[in-house]
Amino acid sequence: MKQNAEQALGTSVSAALVSLLLVAGCNAGAASPSPSEGGGDPAAYTVIATTSVFADLAQLALGDSVTIETIIPAGVDVHTFEPSPADAQRLAGADLIIMNGLGLDEWALSLLEAAGKSEDEVLELGEGIDESHAWIYLEGEAHDEDGGAGHEHGGTDPHIWLDPQGAAIYVERIAARVAADLPGLAMQIEGARDAGLAEIAALDEELRVGFSAVDSTKRKIVTFHDAFGYFARAYEVEIVGVAVEAPGQEPSAKEIAALIDAIDGAGVTSVFSEVQFPSKVLDQIAAETGATVLEDLFSDALGDAPADSYLGAMRSNASAIVASFR
Ligand SMILES: [Zn+2]
Repeated sequence: MKQNAEQALGTSVSAALVSLLLVAGCNAGAASPSPSEGGGDPAAYTVIATTSVFADLAQLALGDSVTIETIIPAGVDVHTFEPSPADAQRLAGADLIIMNGLGLDEWALSLLEAAGKSEDEVLELGEGIDESHAWIYLEGEAHDEDGGAGHEHGGTDPHIWLDPQGAAIYVERIAARVAADLPGLAMQIEGARDAGLAEIAALDEELRVGFSAVDSTKRKIVTFHDAFGYFARAYEVEIVGVAVEAPGQEPSAKEIAALIDAIDGAGVTSVFSEVQFPSKVLDQIAAETGATVLEDLFSDALGDAPADSYLGAMRSNASAIVASFR
């Protein structure tokens, strides 16, 4: 069952991706000159991010100083994504590949190998965040579809960017890395980074005010997949349950029954679906608990405006969640 669902998803994703790349490929040659070896021409420096979220955080960190591209288009699931040979070809032209790590987008590593890139050309945003950031990782699902064999960070929740303070760390890391690669642009990147960090700090404050206006006993949510742990920690929201631990998995009848009990017990009146994951499980849970299914939380991918940026997606999530408490 699980296997079939994954395969079906993978096939449709691959087909969509190939046609997308055929279109994108025509422009790519003209838009971005070949990357410079040894950092000669800054304008030719190309950053490729695994997802639309990390590409937008790169935009916040770097402004218009370099070219930024994305592998997975907005609205497509990162967890079960299956890259095509054309993706490896695109990566070959990148100066820096940005990924999350922590089991979210490990497929990028095999893609890198296929593209003949070295690990020096990769920045794993979530890996090895040190204590100078006072960051504490949450435990979570491995998010690794082949069971996480040999995966050293399988127990860490990878969705760090859903706490704005985590996103700020990502922005700092991107800016530091590219400024080191392109010293001639260091000042420009510093300016972009500071403006980006100020926007993220303003977002964080705005969300803090919004959530704290709601009585803490009412701050309870149910989401589709286990992505909102850092977000919930930041704004003191209780996650009553999730429909699936990670996309590509199906809950058992027993797990669904337990979630229904939890929803009834906690008095949760709405459950959230996520944009890229239509879920029959949530519909079933809603039918049995009388809760409403609220659509369109953004977790691993951006969406249409106003959720077409990190800041917009976070504001959209926060206003939907806060509204559900009332
Ligand atoms: Zn996720």
